[in-house]
Amino acid sequence: MAALNFLTRESCISCGGKMAVPVWSTSYANGRVQHFMDAFHYATDWRAELGDLPIALVCCPDCNMMYHQHVLDAESLEQLYSEWIDENQISALTNGLEDAAGPAAMFRDASDNVRHLLRLNRLLHADQTSSTNGGSGATPLRVLDFGCGAGAFLQQASLFGFDTWGVDFSTTRAAQAKDNQVTIVATLDEFRDEAEQPMHAVTLFQVLEHLDDPRQTLLELAKVLTHDGVLIIEVPNCGRVSVPKNFDEFRCVHPLEHINAFTPQTLTSLVESAGFAKINPGPAHVTSRPDALVRSELTRFYEPKRTNQYFRKS
Ligand SMILES: [Zn+2]
Repeated sequence: MAALNFLTRESCISCGGKMAVPVWSTSYANGRVQHFMDAFHYATDWRAELGDLPIALVCCPDCNMMYHQHVLDAESLEQLYSEWIDENQISALTNGLEDAAGPAAMFRDASDNVRHLLRLNRLLHADQTSSTNGGSGATPLRVLDFGCGAGAFLQQASLFGFDTWGVDFSTTRAAQAKDNQVTIVATLDEFRDEAEQPMHAVTLFQVLEHLDDPRQTLLELAKVLTHDGVLIIEVPNCGRVSVPKNFDEFRCVHPLEHINAFTPQTLTSLVESAGFAKINPGPAHVTSRPDALVRSELTRFYEPKRTNQYFRKS
């Protein structure tokens, strides 16, 4: 196994500012960091690989974006997601997380996916009369899930008649996706070579927090969307995290994996700076509970501040 290489991000990943102030400065030799890292069950001796390398979570005073300065380079990221993270690691980690495994989590995730698909159908077919019954328009909507993992969202999108595309560079995830009958490619370049038409929608679920240059990726993704295409982004909300005090907070600002720490405001600023405009997607109902239906209907008038946001290419 080759050694990992780090690069240092000298300027703000959102606005380019150079005055970053420290939020959390420590090293991989710190006892608490070691305790949290061990809970990830990586398929490698991570202590031997990382030694006492520094960890520097910083905040940009100009735009409030929080990010790690020392991050893995592209090749090392690939190594992380293909070698450190294998099927055993994924199941050991998810088994240890109450909210990530089991039937209740599967039901919640599948319901969330359907809500997204209902909203996309409404937002993208708004000008087409055939949408009045809630069905799709004359042509299938094309959706790209960037960082699609094992392809669960795309499987559901296919059932609703969407043309689906997935990009994920983790070979572990790619193998799972093939088992799920979803076609994915490893890079955006490969996708561009294969897809002949622009996408109506691009989704990034729990992806942007992993990327060393998220703004550049958004600029690239804007190019594969139709002129009024929709972008859905979900990232962890790190609004209250600075120095992590428990496992959940550490996971939010994990220095190898979650290298960008968003709040609702900094997510909107970054994405809008890459040529998108935030929109209120309105409600979509997948529920048997009247109270949930009412709460969701209220979002027509008041949109909660979340790190789960919709945008249109502008
Ligand atoms: Zn900034």
